[in-house]
Amino acid sequence: MGDEKFVFLDDAAELPPKAAKQSTLKTKGKILSVDDDLSYQQSLLYSLRDFVAKGDVDEILTANSAAEAATLIATQDDIAVILLDVVMEDDDAGLRLVETIRNVQGNSLVRIVLLTGQPGVAPRKDVMAQYDIDEYWNKSEIDYDIMKAVVASNLRAWRSMYQLEQARVGLQLVIDASRKLASKYDKNSFIQVVLNEVALLIGGGTSVPTLCVATQSPNDSFDKSYILAYSGDDVVQTGQSIPQHLCRQFGPLYEAAVADHRHHFSDNLSILCFPNNQEESSHYFILAEGREPLSEYNIHLLQVFGENISSGFMKIALINQLSNLAYLDSELQIYNQNWLLRELETMNHADREQTELVMISIDNFDSQTLTFSEKTLFQMITDTHQKIAGLFNKTIGVSRIETSIFAVLCNNDESVSDEALLNFTNQVSQVDGEIRNYTLTIVKVDLAHMDSFSPMQILYLAKSMLYTSRQKGRAFMVYSPSYQEKLLNDYQILNDLKTAIVEHEFFLVLQPKVDLRTEHPVGLEALLRWKKQEQVIPPNVFIPIAEKSGMITKLDLIALELTIEALKSLDKKGYHVPISFNATVKDLYDSNYIQFIEEAIAVEHIDPDLLDVEITETQAMDSYEKVNPILERLHNLHIHVSIDDFGTGYSSLAHISKLAADTIKIDRAFVTNLREDKANQQVVELVLNLAQLFGFSVVAEGIETEQERDALLSKGCHIGQGYLYAKPMPLPELLTWLETHEPQKVMN
Ligand code: C2E
Ligand code: MG
Ligand code: MG
Repeated sequence: MGDEKFVFLDDAAELPPKAAKQSTLKTKGKILSVDDDLSYQQSLLYSLRDFVAKGDVDEILTANSAAEAATLIATQDDIAVILLDVVMEDDDAGLRLVETIRNVQGNSLVRIVLLTGQPGVAPRKDVMAQYDIDEYWNKSEIDYDIMKAVVASNLRAWRSMYQLEQARVGLQLVIDASRKLASKYDKNSFIQVVLNEVALLIGGGTSVPTLCVATQSPNDSFDKSYILAYSGDDVVQTGQSIPQHLCRQFGPLYEAAVADHRHHFSDNLSILCFPNNQEESSHYFILAEGREPLSEYNIHLLQVFGENISSGFMKIALINQLSNLAYLDSELQIYNQNWLLRELETMNHADREQTELVMISIDNFDSQTLTFSEKTLFQMITDTHQKIAGLFNKTIGVSRIETSIFAVLCNNDESVSDEALLNFTNQVSQVDGEIRNYTLTIVKVDLAHMDSFSPMQILYLAKSMLYTSRQKGRAFMVYSPSYQEKLLNDYQILNDLKTAIVEHEFFLVLQPKVDLRTEHPVGLEALLRWKKQEQVIPPNVFIPIAEKSGMITKLDLIALELTIEALKSLDKKGYHVPISFNATVKDLYDSNYIQFIEEAIAVEHIDPDLLDVEITETQAMDSYEKVNPILERLHNLHIHVSIDDFGTGYSSLAHISKLAADTIKIDRAFVTNLREDKANQQVVELVLNLAQLFGFSVVAEGIETEQERDALLSKGCHIGQGYLYAKPMPLPELLTWLETHEPQKVMN
């Protein structure tokens, strides 16, 4: 029926040129003929053979019943046109199939052309509209030419719709990406999605080059811009400037886009332009090279797409700007502590399992602020940062969390060995043309141990490790769970200390310093004790914790008060013995502490000659520039100054010569076994020589044996303290001791 209506021409009519250029689809679409009249279907297929031969469609499918067709359509999403016989199994089998396609399968894209052999069974107009049926033809009326034209125009319509659908999906992706962007602050994933979508829209797939470039200023020339992201087959480095060949290719379009801030297209090249009104924020361009010249349709899609994503780029610029403010160190333009905390926050269990934190601090940086110019110090910081960046091959990021502390996050498998980290603690830097040695303290925390820790706790823990390492003179330390136990214990002690202050749980013990030749006391050292529920806690347990937590000055004020009281009690009993008390640099920086001493002298009429402040060599030298003027001030009040634990720190000769001190106390470590230990003998001799050279008295600490005493005496050291003579004693006990040990007037 109706075969005669087909005219079989040799040359099929060409599809219109516009359609030929529609190359953006991953499929050209398929035609499906549904007809139970097999001979009609055969001739129909024959008439459409050129569509396949010329590659205008992928395939022509056939079905001979509505049921068979329904299955086919459900499994193939690229059927573009259905030529559908209305009357098959039933009178309205075709129409029911249409209903299934549109309403049940939800396929609104496929174009449907109804065909019928029986005039007069044309569906009603409202049904045509309801099911989006495009055309209705009587088989006897449609000849070969018309059939080809009908199929071609429906193919075109389908492709447009399919393309829009793809773009809609693309936009959805971009919208999703923008959402992700807002929560992840991640411009890279946004840009990557944009690039993929653009590649899809211009029909290039993943192999054509699409790239996102950025410039700092809207008028920057093309070669000043740099690549933010790239997709395609070439090897292109992000962060670099644009390769020469792409510069030549896209140059003219870029010029045009920069001139009018609009998207530009030429042949197979597109440039989408996303300028920014905000100062100091980047301007973004998407460059894409299609395989074929762009059709008007492509261009239109790209325009629409561009409009949709421009707000995303604005958001990126804004977020970048905010990120810069919030997450970048303004001096070095590297990440700051906020960044580190945010990174730690966004890590899940698995991320922490694979990550380690390395914290690196420049030793004694504060004390150098008085010696060196700001420029020099800044140079030291930038040098250190560069060296850190060079030490680690790959990191999640290097941040500066305090003036002289850096924190590096890196994956376990990209970490630096402990040995390399230890070697890294000794640094040489060229500052103001001079070679300077300086040291770093480094701690490493494997975040796998930190599952239950908040970011802030991790930060504090690493910082406290830095502090502990420095105190112990260890340049490098790796976190172990026992450290945490110690921390918890320290925390407990700290809390107890707070109560102890309120409850007055402290008392003093006094240890005599004696003239080794006569064994007469020449002075006393006041040492603090904490009596906690009948248990006496020694200072080496609580003093370091108090120092770390900043409570030390409160304790030292208590010790000072008790010292003044002891002085007064001794005075009442007729003993005018100088008492030394221990202080830290933090005390000396505290105006209350100094004021207390001044008032004791002025108001309570304490003889300043009877006060002797002990500060450790390490603290005095580390903070020399800041501490020495304070020591001078105390000196001017006639208070004596002793340098405690001498030999354990690193004194510079230049500093010793100008140190406002009267006495050097040789640390117990050098006194122990003095007669046998050659090295200790050398240290003691050296200290005695230094003391003579710069006019200091010398006190030896921790003399326990007569041999030690004899060795000291033989080297010319005349004053000392130690268990050989007396242990530190509470005042009543001391008073009894003094009854049999008459103090000697002059201490020398
Ligand atoms: P230090 O100032 O070097 O005090 C000397 C320490 O050596 C005292 O320990 C003393 O009891 C001990 N000692 C004295 N003779 C001998 C001996 O022959 N053999 C041995 N093995 N030890 C001896 P103590 O009282 O436990 O104090 C330890 C450290 O705690 C002090 O070292 C001082 O640095 C600090 N400290 C004590 N009281 C205070 C205080 O009120 N304020 C501050 N900031 N630190 C204090
Ligand atoms: Mg002392
Ligand atoms: Mg000492």
